[in-house]
Amino acid sequence: MSRINVTKSFLPPIEEYEAYLKKIWDSGQLTNQGPLLKEFEDHTKKYLGLERFHFVTNGTLALQLALKAVGVNGGEVITTPFSYVATTSAILWENATPVYADIDPETLNLDPQNIEELITPETKAILPVHVFGNPCDVEEIEKIAKKHSIKVIYDAAHAFGVTYKKKSLLSWGDISVCSFHATKLFQTIEGGCVVVNDDNITSDIELMKRFGHRWNDHQMLGINAKASEFQAAMGLCSLNYIDDVIAKRKQISSVYDGELKDTQYKKPKIREETEYNYSYYPVIFRDEESLLQAKKKLEKENIFPRRYFYPSLNTLPYLENKQSCPVSEGVAKKILSLPLYSDLNTEEVKRITEVLC
Ligand SMILES: *Cc1c(COP(=O)(O)O)cnc(C)c1O
Repeated sequence: MSRINVTKSFLPPIEEYEAYLKKIWDSGQLTNQGPLLKEFEDHTKKYLGLERFHFVTNGTLALQLALKAVGVNGGEVITTPFSYVATTSAILWENATPVYADIDPETLNLDPQNIEELITPETKAILPVHVFGNPCDVEEIEKIAKKHSIKVIYDAAHAFGVTYKKKSLLSWGDISVCSFHATKLFQTIEGGCVVVNDDNITSDIELMKRFGHRWNDHQMLGINAKASEFQAAMGLCSLNYIDDVIAKRKQISSVYDGELKDTQYKKPKIREETEYNYSYYPVIFRDEESLLQAKKKLEKENIFPRRYFYPSLNTLPYLENKQSCPVSEGVAKKILSLPLYSDLNTEEVKRITEVLC
């Protein structure tokens, strides 16, 4: 029986990538804001309806740049415990302390009701995640952030192609960052972006991502977050197929929905007025024990789901002070992401759900 992993990268027809390789060979420019990078940024901005968009090496560096750009250098950042580890490690890497606001059990996103009691004079930013591409309560978060004059950075790593109230989900917050890693819905091999809602921040990000200088004019501290022409080429090819990819994932998700109807499995509640991207298919089990049993049975059938997200980040062993987030810790133990990618077929979905039911 063929192996089924939790995800599989969408690859465009190889001829289309080769045509771009030819262009790279002709231009001789491999990186450093080349023509394909500019083309990719233009096309993606247009596709998502965004004004300011910086293509960078990966989603983690996008987070580092965003934190730096809003002045995080030490201090505290209020964030969610239910995410991939990069959300927390980016904060720690900037010498700041993550302060965890527990999540809403229905949406699995940071619950805005938990934010205000955590704000101190040391709070430098709020970093929520649109978990699995499901929009946070962006209006409520914005209200709290405005009231206390704190910047909001969204980790929108899963949110490519999602619209909320008819606008790209990446347009919310002072800054949003996305990941285009090979395992994500939309891939540029490695890659990510920073989307900014402020002209001053945009010019800082553009400088910081290339060592902080233009020729011999060193204006600020920078780092290397430049994406190459090869990554831009993959992005240009992938972008042509993203609508099909999302449509196929939607269809596969509805097969899962049908097969798992009236069973123990619960799904996160997608926010209203959302055009979803079907980036993941997570299911919440009754308890951890039934999850572990099911995972073992699936693995015997050559099916490899992933425990996204586990463990809850407030329990990471290298954190200095332990904080308690009972909702997130509970969900993290019971949630499993089932395989979902555009060429997963109906028979394969049934192979998976038969083991589960
Ligand atoms: C994947 C991911 C990241 C990191 O993105 P990379 O491109 O892999 O560096 C950050 N946050 C979340 C929530 C992610 O899923």
